[in-house]
Amino acid sequence: MIRLKDGYTLMHEHLTIDLSPGDLGGTDIDILYRELTELYTFGVRNIVDLTNQGMGRKPDVLRALASATGINLIPSTGYYLETYMPPDIRTRTIEELVEESVRELTWGIDEEGYTAGVIGEIAWSAPKPGILECKVWESMSIAAAKTGAVISTHPSIGPEQIPQAEFLIKRGIKPEKIIIGHAEFFPNETALFALLELGVNIGIDMIGQNGQDRDEYRADMVAMLRDRGFLSQVTLSMDLCEQQDLRQCGGFGYTHLFTSFLPLLQDRGITEDEIDLMLGRNPMRILG
Ligand SMILES: [Zn+2]
Repeated sequence: MIRLKDGYTLMHEHLTIDLSPGDLGGTDIDILYRELTELYTFGVRNIVDLTNQGMGRKPDVLRALASATGINLIPSTGYYLETYMPPDIRTRTIEELVEESVRELTWGIDEEGYTAGVIGEIAWSAPKPGILECKVWESMSIAAAKTGAVISTHPSIGPEQIPQAEFLIKRGIKPEKIIIGHAEFFPNETALFALLELGVNIGIDMIGQNGQDRDEYRADMVAMLRDRGFLSQVTLSMDLCEQQDLRQCGGFGYTHLFTSFLPLLQDRGITEDEIDLMLGRNPMRILG
């Protein structure tokens, strides 16, 4: 069980991601510090960092930022898309991968006992998952079943969301412990409702990216989900990955969610209580 601080939680971020040039992993820690300090003033007290092994996870940076800013930074365990997996995944057994993630969730990702709080961001390539991705997913399902940890996923911006949820549910993972990511790229409403009927949570988690029209679409989506009674399964985040998107570097920054996106929700009649549900109570329930 993760100890969360009272306040808002961003469920899908990557403070040290290092997959390509310009990613946040190359950022001066003082810049990240200033960015998070601003975020703190908007009530954010927890951030789930889905930067797992192979993506640039850096426990020392997270630890330093967490203690300097007062924001609880929750690391993750697991592996992302096959392209970014360390080469030894090929030869390691499912048992070894399970053992590693269970250890990271219960003992820590470093010698000082900084424990991973979730399994993520585990991913499928399009049009279908690769052999190593299937191996990771089998392993992470077992690790989640053993520990009760939340699993957070990356569908390759396509119709994989329902198959991903079914894969995990079939292996005994409780739907309420699953977050299917990037929901704003789900192909159609019928499929979105079918996914939510399974009881899983979704992440509208790329807020600020792909332009203003996409944010308007995300806001319409939240309003529609409220009208259909699904808001208790919705989480919000930004999946901010590139230095150029930080405010200190001239981008929209993490505060965009609060200064630009929440007003779009308010325009659509979303109440303070509903915002508190998506940013506060839903994360508490899912991670609790
Ligand atoms: Zn991500």
